[in-house]
Amino acid sequence: MSYPVRRFDAVIVGGGGAGLRAALQLSKAGLNTVVLSKVFPTRSHTVAAQGGISASLGNVQEDRWDWHMYDTVKGSDWLGDQDAIEFMCRRAPEAVIELEHMGMPFDRVESGKIYQRPFGGHTAEHGKRAVERACAVADRTGHAMLHTLYQQNVHANTQFFVEWSALDLIRDAEGAVVGVVAMEMETGEVYILHAKAVLFATGGAGRIYASSTNAFMNTGDGLGMTARAGIPLEDMEFWQFHPTGVAGAGVLITEGVRGEGGILLNCNGERFMERYAPTVKDLASRDVVSRAMAMEILEGRGCGKNKDHVLLKLDHLGADKIIEKLPGIREIAINFAGVDPIKDPIPVVPTNHYMMGGIPTNYHGEVIAPQGEDYERIVPGFYAAGECACASVHGANRLGTNSLLDLVVFGKSAGDSMIEYIQSHQEHRPLPENAGEFTRARLERLENQTGGENVDQVRNDLQRMVQSHAGVYRTDALLKEGVEKVFEIAERVKRTEIKDKSKVWNTARLEALELDNLIEVAKATLVSAEARKESRGAHASDDHPERDDANWMKHTMYHADTNSLTYKPVHTKPLTVDYIEPAKRVY
Ligand SMILES: Cc1cc2nc3c(=O)[nH]c(=O)nc-3n(C[C@H](O)[C@H](O)[C@H](O)COP(=O)(O)OP(=O)(O)OC[C@H]3O[C@@H](n4cnc5c(N)ncnc54)[C@H](O)[C@@H]3O)c2cc1C
Repeated sequence: MSYPVRRFDAVIVGGGGAGLRAALQLSKAGLNTVVLSKVFPTRSHTVAAQGGISASLGNVQEDRWDWHMYDTVKGSDWLGDQDAIEFMCRRAPEAVIELEHMGMPFDRVESGKIYQRPFGGHTAEHGKRAVERACAVADRTGHAMLHTLYQQNVHANTQFFVEWSALDLIRDAEGAVVGVVAMEMETGEVYILHAKAVLFATGGAGRIYASSTNAFMNTGDGLGMTARAGIPLEDMEFWQFHPTGVAGAGVLITEGVRGEGGILLNCNGERFMERYAPTVKDLASRDVVSRAMAMEILEGRGCGKNKDHVLLKLDHLGADKIIEKLPGIREIAINFAGVDPIKDPIPVVPTNHYMMGGIPTNYHGEVIAPQGEDYERIVPGFYAAGECACASVHGANRLGTNSLLDLVVFGKSAGDSMIEYIQSHQEHRPLPENAGEFTRARLERLENQTGGENVDQVRNDLQRMVQSHAGVYRTDALLKEGVEKVFEIAERVKRTEIKDKSKVWNTARLEALELDNLIEVAKATLVSAEARKESRGAHASDDHPERDDANWMKHTMYHADTNSLTYKPVHTKPLTVDYIEPAKRVY
């Protein structure tokens, strides 16, 4: 055995909302649980979530969970699995009330109930009118949620390995997951963490793009480790672009701003969303608004001297409302755009924001690795939840506020599944003889490489390439060229070198190891996108402008080991209600 071994019931990789919700479940059940995180848990990207968490509480206007389900299916452009969507939307009210009881300080309406605001794509009676469904803590909802969950975990005695990075997954000869190889970042020591069950909750991978609202640590480590362990990645062509990133900086301006009444204007001062989505206008689904903005800019109606952005106007809301409901946004606008939104509009542009695809799971949080016609084949001992997982509730496009909900609903259900699995397996499955060898080879390659390429340079080239070949607008030619380029860059990744080894921090080693993950995510993205000859949700192809349900209502599975694609049917059967038939997605 190559590295020292430490043993746990459950290893959770990721201390964001999903990891912490699952950990709480396990620790409360008295299981020996450790959470690994590259950063202090409360610095995970969940902390940046602004706008809210959705639940059909109906505190402002009548609302129902099946309306929420309809909106989510429609938002997903009929690629979401309807069993998982029903599971999530039905449980949303109890999940939010559970957070409230844990101490999450939600904003309130007059009556004392939880405050709710409108959000893109949230409607009553199947699209008839906008409805207030997003429960919020000002514009810092994720911050409040993450701190609440962290404190609950401290109370439940969850162990934390802070500033530890998981490097690879360990599977035994039967394919079951039995642990991870991980590095303590401060010392550079590598350990094997032997577990009965492993959960990945490693968050998004927006850093494959040059311009993203995601934290720098969102490098898709969970996806990279999964792909290297021979498990396919699902629906990786679907990346959400948020309509309102601060132009030039990429920092997010929440949709909650439009929920509170903010509007988008082109250089003629026109509220152009009235043309693209006459009913809900600025509150159409994110892909619809992002494409409309890109159209305005392409057709010369962008603002600024380069005509490369549009404006988000909110001064008409009044200083009091901005200061009370959107204080963080005002701060961001002043710091990153140099404008005070009480007086001036904010320059905004569509920016990469969220990964709909990921590690394939069912709604119990169990990872599945389809083989042939066996689409539901489970990988024993392996679970995933949160943004790194694909359940798939978001399908081809996620509705705002459905991710925070996804974290707590599927974090909890994955935790429950793990408890059941761990309790029925008294003994740890043995580690394979060669556990850790693969990681050792990766680390040795990095130490011994000479005359190789600079990590930053290769990563920058990758990010710029993905940005221009797999952005909001896609064509066959752009994607085909992107596939060629990503494999050229993959060859360069194999030759990266840490310069001046004696003087560098372990963080430089980790950046090199993260690049191994980014490249897996980028390959999966380009190969999956190039193959899908239709437009659906966030995947909009100029050469195939229509959705093609006859041929493409299916999930993509990218297999890194063979660089090939297979497909898996969409779950069209909800758990208890009727199937929501495909319809044209207009807002
Ligand atoms: C700016 C912004 C605003 C958003 N606003 C909203 C919103 O209002 N509502 C909404 O529903 N959604 C929102 N989203 C989306 C939502 O916040 C994210 O999808 C969600 O928080 C992801 O949570 P997670 O638990 O999956 O991962 P994260 O919170 O990203 O946490 C990932 C964890 O994994 C750890 N990790 C990663 N790799 C490793 C490794 N190799 N080893 C050890 N640990 C590792 C990290 O340290 C971290 O603890 C927003 C996203 C962004 C970027």
